[in-house]
Amino acid sequence: MTIREVEQEIKKLRKQLEEYNQLYFLFNEPKVSDTEYDLLLKRLAELENTYPQFKIDSTPTESIGSDLTPGAKVIKHKERMYSLENAYSLEEVRSSLFRIARLLEIESAELPIYLELKIDGFSINLFYDKGTLQYATTRGDGFEGEDVTENIKQIKSIPTTIPHQAPIEIRGEIFLPISEFLRINEERAAKGEKSFANPRNAAAGTIKVKNSQIVAERNLDGFFYSIGYAEERPFKSQQEISEFLTKSGFKTNLYNKLANSFEEIEHFCNEWEDKRSTLEYEIDGIVLKVNDLADQDRLGFTDKSPRWAIAYKFKAEEKSTNLLSVEFSVGRTGAVTPVAILEPVYIAGTTVSRSTLHNEDEIDRLDLHHNDRVVIVKSGDIIPKILRTLPEFRSPEAEKVVFPNHCPVCQTPLSKEEDGVIQYCNNINCPAQIQKRIEHFASRKAMDIEGLGEALIAKLLEYNIIEKIEDLYNLDYDKIQELENQGEKSIANLKSAIEKSKERAWDRILYALGIRFVGDKTAKSIAEHYPTYELIKTATIEDLLEIEDVGERIAESVYSFFQNEESIHTLEALKDKGLKLEYESGVKSDLLKGFSFLLTGTLANYTRTEAQQLIEEKGGRVTSSVSKKLNYLIVGENPGSKYDKAKTIDSIKIIDETEFAKLLEEGVEA
Ligand code: AMP
Ligand code: ZN
Repeated sequence: MTIREVEQEIKKLRKQLEEYNQLYFLFNEPKVSDTEYDLLLKRLAELENTYPQFKIDSTPTESIGSDLTPGAKVIKHKERMYSLENAYSLEEVRSSLFRIARLLEIESAELPIYLELKIDGFSINLFYDKGTLQYATTRGDGFEGEDVTENIKQIKSIPTTIPHQAPIEIRGEIFLPISEFLRINEERAAKGEKSFANPRNAAAGTIKVKNSQIVAERNLDGFFYSIGYAEERPFKSQQEISEFLTKSGFKTNLYNKLANSFEEIEHFCNEWEDKRSTLEYEIDGIVLKVNDLADQDRLGFTDKSPRWAIAYKFKAEEKSTNLLSVEFSVGRTGAVTPVAILEPVYIAGTTVSRSTLHNEDEIDRLDLHHNDRVVIVKSGDIIPKILRTLPEFRSPEAEKVVFPNHCPVCQTPLSKEEDGVIQYCNNINCPAQIQKRIEHFASRKAMDIEGLGEALIAKLLEYNIIEKIEDLYNLDYDKIQELENQGEKSIANLKSAIEKSKERAWDRILYALGIRFVGDKTAKSIAEHYPTYELIKTATIEDLLEIEDVGERIAESVYSFFQNEESIHTLEALKDKGLKLEYESGVKSDLLKGFSFLLTGTLANYTRTEAQQLIEEKGGRVTSSVSKKLNYLIVGENPGSKYDKAKTIDSIKIIDETEFAKLLEEGVEA
């Protein structure tokens, strides 16, 4: 990596992390999982350590994400609120413990460690004086937090008075029990409101609402685990802090415990990583704290976190459930997506009952069989996914899940696009796609049918007034008027817009057909090369590849479109209704009458369309491919394969541009 690249990556990482921080803390709408976030952060820290010249004061590695809402009332913490250093494996935990022992200059790394469940909630600071709650704040930026006193007072398990009289800051984590979270989301869904991604977001969102009544209805809860500022400290260890808190009336976690060996630590971490889903609240790791407060003081803090604590982070949560069936759904664009229907299971914030399998490759990767037992994973905010199958639970008769080779809705054979893994139904009239296809057909750049929008199309389909694209030119206007309950004027407008659309040029029609990968520009190139429907209908992939801007992917798509019976049927029908499936060209003379022509390569003085037009004006015919029936092949710059093929057929006259110009002037000699 060059220094410049390093600098750029550092900048990019900082920007990304700041954006994620904002989404997470301010909007409670995380975009990435915690694990992904932490990985980015770790990468940034690595780079900053190796290249200290790029270190700046306000880097995300040294500041904790801020939850402060601009304009909100803030209160300064009496003692700073820190974040925690993360460890993602027990090896990392072990080496952190060795580092701690080294700093404390003790021989053994097996010092007493207080183990606490890491509650996945929202941290909070409570200040009491003379035994009474004075205020409550969020962590904010670590130095000052947002005043949330009124809301905190709604939480029943938080005492407003305590026996301890001296000023003291009490810290803990506010969380929403899973059952509450599910209930709230159900209610929100029923009201058409956006549901919370997970209990933590719900807790964070709730703690900051303006109306305390909402907090009262939501049954938030809290666990408390540490002390900030305190004038009197009747405790000597982390364990004693916990006992002090319990005695003072705070809820502390029942499972927290003191460990004296690495073995115990390991056991506790593994045990809870397995058992996390048995709890009524979410945890995302274990916090390890040096138990002795005198040791904690000697260790002190880094810019961001205490040196005496480590957060062991669990891996994304996994659960197993049964595969009930696999549905193949046809999207509005024709893509067929397999979806696993699962026995509902709660995991990291959601009850999962379906999960996308993306495509055929994914089914193969999983070696998915019917009724399989599957492991699903969901990390916090990320969409659940099937990680693997458990073949040991599979019955010997179970059959492999196979991807259909026909569209489940209209039975058209599916096609896999050239570079892709996705299977598509390319039927122009597939019921699963027809709404979108008609919307496209009527859109501005296509047939430009004013007044035929999404809603009206939906209605026409719903009442079976249309089924296919061509039905637009055969509408029962009386019936529409009845349905729409609209004035005669708007029906008349629709009618005239549809009539007017019959005048659209050939390239617009070609675009309007919605052939995959054919945008308006490509449609124009194709239409110029093939100025009539009859010509393009018989074009081979090879022929199509000669068109400028047309690569393999487009050529295959166009070719298969015109191979499809439904497409042909629709085009014939459109032609019958009076649409012009060709560029109009009036025949002006019969100089070239009875002769067929084909072009290959680029001409200096004519575009394809011009050349074609000139030939047709003079009564000639332009064909799409080389055959024995062809009379003249006009060869320009960089000719394609047609040239080679034409050379093998003696009867074809191969001419250049000058000879072509002469023919146009003088006609074909008998
Ligand atoms: P992080 O936000 O990942 O840096 O982790 C630090 C946060 O973990 C703290 O600010 C607390 O909100 C939260 N936390 C949850 N449980 C505990 C615990 N038992 N001890 C300390 N912090 C905890
Ligand atoms: Zn279909």
